[in-house]
Amino acid sequence: MTFKELDIIEPILKALNEAGYEIPTIIQEKAIPLALNNKDILGLAQTGTGKTAAFTIPIIQQLYQNKENEKVKSIKALILTPTRELAIQINDCIKNYTKYTGVRHTVIYGGVNQNTQVKDLKSGVDILVATPGRLLDLMNQGFVKLNSIRHFVLDEADRMLDMGFIHDIKRLLPKLPKEKQTLFFSATMPRSIATLAATILHNPVKVEVAPVSSVVDTVEQYLYFVEKTDKKELLINLLIKKNKQSALVFSRTKHGADKIARILCKAGIGSESIHGDKSQNARQRALTNFKSNKTRVLIATDIAARGIDIDKLELVINYDLPEIAETYVHRIGRTGRAGNTGMALTFCAPEEKALLKDIQKLTGKDITIAN
Ligand code: AMP
Repeated sequence: MTFKELDIIEPILKALNEAGYEIPTIIQEKAIPLALNNKDILGLAQTGTGKTAAFTIPIIQQLYQNKENEKVKSIKALILTPTRELAIQINDCIKNYTKYTGVRHTVIYGGVNQNTQVKDLKSGVDILVATPGRLLDLMNQGFVKLNSIRHFVLDEADRMLDMGFIHDIKRLLPKLPKEKQTLFFSATMPRSIATLAATILHNPVKVEVAPVSSVVDTVEQYLYFVEKTDKKELLINLLIKKNKQSALVFSRTKHGADKIARILCKAGIGSESIHGDKSQNARQRALTNFKSNKTRVLIATDIAARGIDIDKLELVINYDLPEIAETYVHRIGRTGRAGNTGMALTFCAPEEKALLKDIQKLTGKDITIAN
């Protein structure tokens, strides 16, 4: 599945392409078509699953497509999120995705002077990202009007309740027009959240990404903190030391995958790479060689590795950390299947530490440090 197949329009596709988004994540694949159909969504997804793009892209697309009919300068979409960091992060994503659409947006949050935010609001925005306190504050002062809202997103609803925002939300809801699309996202679904969702949503479709942590339990995981320039040497040493029959190595880029294969071959370790720039035939051949143990190591990009099923794969190596935390779980879930033991080794360079944090947050576990 590609973004194009999800009917994403050209100006957004171009921006996604530039941002390096090649394929939709699971939550995107499920939620985007529904959201584009103006359905209400109850989304169960954690950070690191690509949920922000899942709710922002359809909104941007719908606003862009209705642009011709819009004469009024009014806020048409409101995204409510519990923390200032999340608000900024969401606004940054929107900035990326709206690059070629002319859709305007801004973010408001507490703890800072309101003047710049008010100025931005006055210049006119289509999408407003906000934390609850500052939103109510600026509404009371008359700087924010919500009577033209057509899309409303409640992000991280569980955290919102944990942080005591329930009263703010309840005060806010009646100010929104009845006729609107609501997208409700939460990482967990305790009773209180389900109740809140039921009062806000109309005939929602539930969209869920499978709980991921269970996959992880069957695999021994180790972490190596390593400088980027030392990864090659570490890889060679580990492949020799671990003495496993077969290993699947993940590289973030196609170019990187080729380079790793060359380095390993030079070191006398039989290896081949597969990625999107190789022909279907070449990919198939590499895969057959790997499955029949002709080559010991297969280096793949995430896209090329989709759908590859290898029985008794003993070792997965994350040469680079994935951008999306969820991808880590998919990668290591290729080993330790069907009662076999599996091992996953992950390389983390200093500049990849933020990605590692996302993974540990998603899986709820720290990976054992091996060095
Ligand atoms: P989120 O779960 O929304 O916090 O997203 C996690 C990270 O994944 C963010 O850094 C996004 O920029 C990135 N991301 C989201 N969707 C994709 C995609 N389809 N391809 C690549 N990266 C993505």
